[in-house]
Amino acid sequence: MKQLLCAACGAAMTNDEIALCLHLHGGAPTRFLCASCMAAELECPPEWLQKKIGLLKKSGCRYFAETYV
Ligand SMILES: [Zn+2]
Repeated sequence: MKQLLCAACGAAMTNDEIALCLHLHGGAPTRFLCASCMAAELECPPEWLQKKIGLLKKSGCRYFAETYV
């Protein structure tokens, strides 16, 4: 897949950020947001998202098993 850019700030999306977007939107996100823009939109601290990513990876979430970029 080609490089995805954050819909809000244009930053290059990391694999984890893409997987998190997919997870949060049931596999069909309307747009992709990087971790900091996602945190702003969800009104949660960025550290919470990092923790969430860690937890999802540990729980074997299938979105995190894919390579997107
Ligand atoms: Zn962004």
